[in-house]
Amino acid sequence: MLRTPLLAAARSTACRRLVERTPVTRGLVDRFVAGSTQEQALPKVAELTRDRYVTLDHLGEDTTDAAQAQATVDAYTRLLAALAEQGLAGRAEVSVKLSAVGQFLPADGEKIALDNARDICRAAEAAGTTMTLDMEDHTTVDSTLSILRDLRVDFPWVGAVLQAYLHRTEADCRDLSGAGSRVRICKGAYDEPASVAYKDKAEVDKAYVRCLKILMAGEGYPMVASHDPRMVAIAQRLAATAGRSDDDYEHQMLYGIRDNEQVRLAAEGKRMRVYVPYGDEWYGYFMRRLAERPANMMFFARSLITR
Ligand code: FAD
Repeated sequence: MLRTPLLAAARSTACRRLVERTPVTRGLVDRFVAGSTQEQALPKVAELTRDRYVTLDHLGEDTTDAAQAQATVDAYTRLLAALAEQGLAGRAEVSVKLSAVGQFLPADGEKIALDNARDICRAAEAAGTTMTLDMEDHTTVDSTLSILRDLRVDFPWVGAVLQAYLHRTEADCRDLSGAGSRVRICKGAYDEPASVAYKDKAEVDKAYVRCLKILMAGEGYPMVASHDPRMVAIAQRLAATAGRSDDDYEHQMLYGIRDNEQVRLAAEGKRMRVYVPYGDEWYGYFMRRLAERPANMMFFARSLITR
């Protein structure tokens, strides 16, 4: 019930000002975000990589300013150099939102985003690690997959994200299930219309399992991004049926969510990757996390009332 208004608020400037200025917000943001700067985030990454893998997201999205897009590329380049320097690149990669590197710029946005993503790929390659393209709302999927195809010509290890709630995604899973392909399958975090997406949780879960079946049976490397214990168990069963070893796929969860389960899976010998966001532009990311779980919103609301 709260999901739609919260996801609408995630794109509202007025709500953003209100939430950002509320002093108690910071405490809850810290649960999901590893710091405002790379220097704050990296010690947490070093700690996580003792038993897990990491993908780092320099927060930011929907930029319509070319200088801001370039600043994001520079931030990733600096981050990747630091990962290499600190010996973390073997266990930590980066996740990039194309809308943060220029996809929505009014003139030539797609080409600028491709060029910028290419620069990040070069920095990732120099550091000895990889990059995955996050997936945003459904209007961006064709453009993102087209940029992915172009990037993979020179950087075949670039990963993609597919969202099981979209009707089109089973077909996209088939297209991206070939050798060398790295696909993060998630349920999907945006408020999509019924014309393009399943709206009912049970339908989304069924679609997620259908996507898992395609990816696990394929020749690529499935990245199972879900905190849902049922999806985690089903993914493991499907991997075993497909003859995959624990190194032939991975689980992924978000920083600050189900940490005990992350530790448990890693201790069992599963590959467990944590998505670690950092930076000042936390608003959209934070609101999507509130929308995913009413309890998060209730906790936030209670802290506002009792402060
Ligand atoms: P759900 O059915 O939503 O949740 C299952 C259980 O997980 C809940 O009962 C609860 O115990 C726990 N849980 C789930 N969410 C939260 C939360 N916010 N706070 C606390 N507990 C929670 N979406 C995109 O659209 N594009 C992306 O590129 C993308 N990348 C992602 C990368 C990773 C590594 C992960 C884990 C998710 C990503 N997502 C992305 C978000 C994803 O689409 C879902 O919105 C999110 O993961 C919740 O779905 P779920 O599979 O965990 O299952």
